[in-house]
Amino acid sequence: ADGNGATATRRNVAIVGAGPVGSLAALNFARMGHEVQLYEYREDIRKAQLVQGRSINLALSQRGRKALAAVGLEQQVLATAIPMRGRMLHSVKGRTSIVLYDPCNNQCLYSVGRKRLNELLLDACDAFPNIHCHFEHKLVKANIREGRLQFRQGKEKQKPRQKEQEQEQEPAQEQLICASADLIVGCDGAFSALRQQLVRQPGFNYSQEYIGTGYLELCIPAKDNEFQMPPNYLHIWPRDSFMMIALPNQDKSFTVTLSMPFEVFEQLKTQQQLLDFFRTHYVDALPLIGEQQLIKDFFKSRPQHLMSVKCKPYHYMDKALILGDAAHAMVPYYGQGLNAGMEDLTLLNSILNQQLTLDVALEKFTESRWRDAHAICDLAMYNYVEMRDLTKRWSFRCRKWLDTTLFRLFPNQWVPLYNSVSFTSMPYSQCIANRQWQDQLLRKVLNGTIVLSSLVAVGAIYVRRFR
Ligand code: FAD
Repeated sequence: ADGNGATATRRNVAIVGAGPVGSLAALNFARMGHEVQLYEYREDIRKAQLVQGRSINLALSQRGRKALAAVGLEQQVLATAIPMRGRMLHSVKGRTSIVLYDPCNNQCLYSVGRKRLNELLLDACDAFPNIHCHFEHKLVKANIREGRLQFRQGKEKQKPRQKEQEQEQEPAQEQLICASADLIVGCDGAFSALRQQLVRQPGFNYSQEYIGTGYLELCIPAKDNEFQMPPNYLHIWPRDSFMMIALPNQDKSFTVTLSMPFEVFEQLKTQQQLLDFFRTHYVDALPLIGEQQLIKDFFKSRPQHLMSVKCKPYHYMDKALILGDAAHAMVPYYGQGLNAGMEDLTLLNSILNQQLTLDVALEKFTESRWRDAHAICDLAMYNYVEMRDLTKRWSFRCRKWLDTTLFRLFPNQWVPLYNSVSFTSMPYSQCIANRQWQDQLLRKVLNGTIVLSSLVAVGAIYVRRFR
């Protein structure tokens, strides 16, 4: 602990939510010497069965890796991950083509199991005597001024099928538990209960946006203990207003995410309609998923909603803070939600290690983070269009080729947008500014080329006519 800084005083820190961001936050606060109480609504994920339909794997990239490296877990996580070197695009006819993410430096994304990642983080928490985990504790009330919390303890009761959202689940027996803390950190996801308390504070800005697209998870199982498609790619079936993607798993299966407007989901009412739809749009994927399995998985659950949350500030005095999806949930199309949440902790650490009082440090955190958090929410919306529509256009591929060529020639000056987001720690807002600068330059060059070629053409006509 340093001088009068935010880490000097040993505090009681209550972290709400033991997902990937909450458990990483616990490790960070514990390493600073604070006493950490980690509260999680669900049962210990290490004892739980895999929950189907809840994004089984995730694409981990530079920002998440950096935050994991800071707590000594990067290599352990990567050891269980599958590298994805690029996008493999599947056409309507079932033909495939590859667009590498980074032909210059061979950087890749890593497909990691959400459960495995969370387990590794919680195992690491167990090694700290100053981290105390409380599972099956759901935050129901918080007084952030006074640092008081109320939890409902008990096993969550799963309602019948299709009731999968957190607020639709109920504990079997109710028991209320009270606790207090010097600092409350909300890492309780997109529907954060702690954020609901912050919303009541004057000066708190908040917006949320649901998109008209839902997602549903399917599976391409392993066959003869082998992958049924090349494993080192993120597979995409872009189909204009909808799409499907697949990420590889350790057990040689693929988790497939079907994203479509809710109206399209609603049109698929019968087994025949579903099979016809897949025969038309995903002809190569259908035999890999298997007709019977597709029917079973598709009708088993309802498409999930996707939303984007922007808010500011992320803190209340030196009393409360929100991180990860609680602060900036986004649509999943840039594969950055988790990476951004983990990057929150890289930034928070660097600020807490400065000689600042906690209230000033948290204020500085909000000020340094909100533009970038809002920027990645916007980029994630943009990438949805890119993935489902633009990837199959020639203009997109030409631009990709141009970006790659310029990146190869000027690796420090011309970093393409996707690379800056996924393979660097460049602030997200700067990634956007960088892209705008590149677009302007290319536009000028293109206009210049058009003017020049027009002049040459006019010159040539003139010479022919009057020769
Ligand atoms: P969560 O993972 O939501 O964890 C919150 C935790 O808090 C949960 O354990 C929950 O049980 C607990 N909790 C909730 N309410 C309470 C309460 N009241 N009391 C106590 N505990 C509570 N991101 C990527 O970086 N790459 C990807 O490839 C990617 N793919 C995705 C695909 C899909 C389909 C989706 C939906 C998201 C994807 N994301 C991806 C985003 C990523 O899943 C989230 O950004 C990430 O899980 C956020 O972590 P978190 O810990 O902040 O929140």
